[in-house]
Amino acid sequence: MRVPLLKPNPARLSAHIEDLEALEASGIYSNFGPLNAAFETRLLHEFFEGEGACLTACNATIALLLAIKEATHFGTRRRAPYALMPSFTFAATAHAAIWCGLTPIFYDIEPDTWLPSREAEQRLLERHGDDIAVIVPYATFGNSLDLDGYEALSQRTGVGVVVDAAASLGSRDRQGRSFGQGAAMSVVYSMHATKTFATSEGAVIHSADAARIGRLRQMANFGFDARRSAEMPGLNAKLAELPALLALRKLDEIDAVVERRGALHTLYRQLLPDFVFQTHTGTRTAHQFVPALLPEHAGIARENFVERMKARGVAVATYFSPHLAEHGYFRDVALVDDIPVTEKIAARIVTLPLHDMMEEAEIRYVCDAAMDCLH
Ligand SMILES: *Cc1c(COP(=O)(O)O)cnc(C)c1O
Repeated sequence: MRVPLLKPNPARLSAHIEDLEALEASGIYSNFGPLNAAFETRLLHEFFEGEGACLTACNATIALLLAIKEATHFGTRRRAPYALMPSFTFAATAHAAIWCGLTPIFYDIEPDTWLPSREAEQRLLERHGDDIAVIVPYATFGNSLDLDGYEALSQRTGVGVVVDAAASLGSRDRQGRSFGQGAAMSVVYSMHATKTFATSEGAVIHSADAARIGRLRQMANFGFDARRSAEMPGLNAKLAELPALLALRKLDEIDAVVERRGALHTLYRQLLPDFVFQTHTGTRTAHQFVPALLPEHAGIARENFVERMKARGVAVATYFSPHLAEHGYFRDVALVDDIPVTEKIAARIVTLPLHDMMEEAEIRYVCDAAMDCLH
């Protein structure tokens, strides 16, 4: 059997020819056209009970860049040099901060939830004071961050907060709401083809503060005001109409997709009792794939495990190893706090396959292979 790590499953536009014909008939291909507007409105009401506003963007890397710039340019720490972010995240987050002219400081995560360490943030805020412009916590693998805590921290200290929720569209928080609901900071979700909310390229930013989304919308369109005069930092971050159509059609099925992936994830946990899984803090996680730690006393190096699985036809990755502090470019331009938990987890982590249409038999095959390959 051959089992790929991911099988992107965006909505099939070939089955929605009438949607494509309507798009062509409209003559509008971008610039927050009717499909983008319809998606933003539906998402706002179906996910966020109509509170605040949503903004689509061309991808989450650019959306993070935009949101970090908004948080610093319109905040009280416009000239502060640092951006805090966990080392256990994707390269996009560090790139976004660096494009904003900030120096990342990588910090540690919690041992069970793999969420950013609140204790490390506190310590770094005490050490660097007003030199920290923004914190960019990652809602690790769709897990639920305590956004109220970040909100309070931002209010108390003036530090900006932008949430990297790239894998969280479809996740629910500790109270059962869509992750991000109620938060006034920018919460950035990816709709990349490989995410659970799969389109092609795409992202969305939600904030309970509609004025913030208004500023971001202007920034995403060259910083133009109504007279097409650039009045704030800007770039072109707009989502085209075609991927907005993919997003609308994915919205129709996202609940079923997340539920099914949740059931498949549960099966993995049952079949791999010796592996260590992330502790989930929300009431629902939009599982993108299945991250797990090799058993502590596995008699095999991680690289050999991955190789042996490959020989069995099973693609296994190691997200996020290397973690950010291990990337050559970031080593040159960023600072690193003590990260013992990150180092331990990144050294043992493997990413196992998950797809919308995955069959139970495939998971049994992967898990049997995983148990065999440990020895
Ligand atoms: C996927 C991902 C991103 C980037 O999303 P794109 O839409 O591909 O730019 C950023 N951060 C994390 C943690 C991700 O997993």
